[in-house]
Amino acid sequence: MILSPLKINIKDERFLHIDWSDGSESMLLVANLRKSCPCASCITERTEKPPTYIPLLSTAQLTLRDIKPVGAYAIQLVWQDGHDSGIYTYDKLKEGEY
Ligand SMILES: [Zn+2]
Repeated sequence: MILSPLKINIKDERFLHIDWSDGSESMLLVANLRKSCPCASCITERTEKPPTYIPLLSTAQLTLRDIKPVGAYAIQLVWQDGHDSGIYTYDKLKEGEY
């Protein structure tokens, strides 16, 4: 069986809650999803910062505006500040890797 989300919703504006097709569920911190945004420009930005750098994100950057399915394997998160290039795969969401 291919793992897929049955239901995705946002809890208390802080958590992304996912009900999976295998009956399990995931609770992911929205702030962590933004901080680990897997798009190329965010990865570059993170790798160029010194290890002591503490990212300060605005409320708009930490607020989800929309969640879109990408094929049968991932979701695209659209943030309030307009950033939308991060594609979050189901397997990594399931493993809590974001
Ligand atoms: Zn990004």
